[in-house]
Parts: sequence; structure tokens; C-alpha cells
Amino acid sequence: MASWILVPCLVKLRSEFNAIAPNRDRSSDGSVGDSAHQSSQSDHNPDETGNVPIRDADRVNEVHAIDVDVDLRVPGLSMEKVVQFLLTRCRSGAEKRLRYIIFNRRIWSASSGWRQERYTGANPHDHHAHFSSSYASNLEAATASWHLEDVPVALTADDKKWISAEIAKQVKAQIDDIWAFNVGRSTGTPSQRADSVLVTANVRAGSVANDQLPKLRDAVEQLSQQVVELTQQLTAGRSS
Ligand SMILES: [Zn+2]
Repeated sequence: MASWILVPCLVKLRSEFNAIAPNRDRSSDGSVGDSAHQSSQSDHNPDETGNVPIRDADRVNEVHAIDVDVDLRVPGLSMEKVVQFLLTRCRSGAEKRLRYIIFNRRIWSASSGWRQERYTGANPHDHHAHFSSSYASNLEAATASWHLEDVPVALTADDKKWISAEIAKQVKAQIDDIWAFNVGRSTGTPSQRADSVLVTANVRAGSVANDQLPKLRDAVEQLSQQVVELTQQLTAGRSS
């Protein structure tokens, strides 16, 4: 076969898959067409020497499609999420470098407004997703980020554990602040009674300033609000 290159935009897309899923299975990956592809029209064929749907402006022998193995091997991440993320960007007009995507018996094309359609080809594309790129010189050459690092990833049990621990830490710090500010004259701080801060506050309420508990409650409420906002930010970026 004559020498060929994969268009730079798809080299970039594949490298971003490798970045977000370094241990992904690559056994169903592909770029240049095998003999089966060569006999039929395919973006996997080099465009100067092979059977392709479009003749582009340049004289470079380019392949305009990659296959990416479905198994990304990252907890909470899936090829479905990556495909849906890219589709959202294509539909919004933010991403113009793709012509179509085939995955799991479905096809989405720029030419039909990225509407989901049933794919009835011989290969159901359930082991890999197929990405065909534009043949426009400026688009095939564009190596701007595909932003795959923004693909939503579901929170894992470890993530949730970390967030809970972080919240507990912040609550304790805030309570200590309030305590130091309001009842600094008393001996010790809640952190010295770490596991029973609220119990301690209640027990001491009778002998320290009466405004302690309402202020404590306010502080915890404010903190809860911050936690809610933080969680929303986290889940907006990381979980669908
Ligand atoms: Zn393919």
C-alpha cells in the first residue's frame, strides 16, 4: 500500500482518548482500511490512492477515519459518554471536524444534523466506535483540543468517600472558627473533642454564650450551601 497519514485532527482525537483512558483496550482500534475496506468506499482508505467518498483539495494521501475500542477501562467512563459528549459539541456547532460517528448500531451524521439513526451495516460497531472526519483542509488539519477531559465521569465510591471526608473536615474547621470567635474564653476547642463536636456544643450551651448554638447552626447551614454548590459544580463537570 502507498504511504499514507492519518489526518492530524484524528491523531489528536486518538491521543485524547489515550490521555483520558491510558489503559484502554486497543485491540479494536483502527485507522487505515484492511483489504475488506479497500474493496469498498470508506474513509478508512487513503484518499489519493484508495476508494473514498470525497476528493479533497490537497495531494496528501490521507486517511479520514479512526476506530476506537469500546473498552476504555476507566470506572465511571464509557464510550457512550464520550460519543454523547462529542455529539453535543457537534450539535451546538462548537465542533465541526467530524462528518459522522457510528457506534452500537447507530449513526449520527453532520449531513442529517447529528440526528440519531439506526445503523444497519454488517458490523454493528459494538466493539469500537467509528469517527469520520471532514475532508476540508482547515478542519482535517486542526489539532485544537476535543475537550475529552471534560467528558462526564460518574463519581466512584472512592470519590464519594473523599468528598464526605472533605466535607467533614470543612465542617469541623468552620465549627472551630466559630467556637474560637465566640467562646474562645472557654477551655479547649471542639477539635480537641473531635468526634463529638455538636454534642459538646450542646452540653456546653448551658454555661457559655446563648448565641453559640444559633451561630453554629448558621455556620453549618452556610457550609451546607457551599457543599451543595460544590457538589453541583463537581457533578456538572463529572457526572451525567
Ligand atoms: Zn471504522
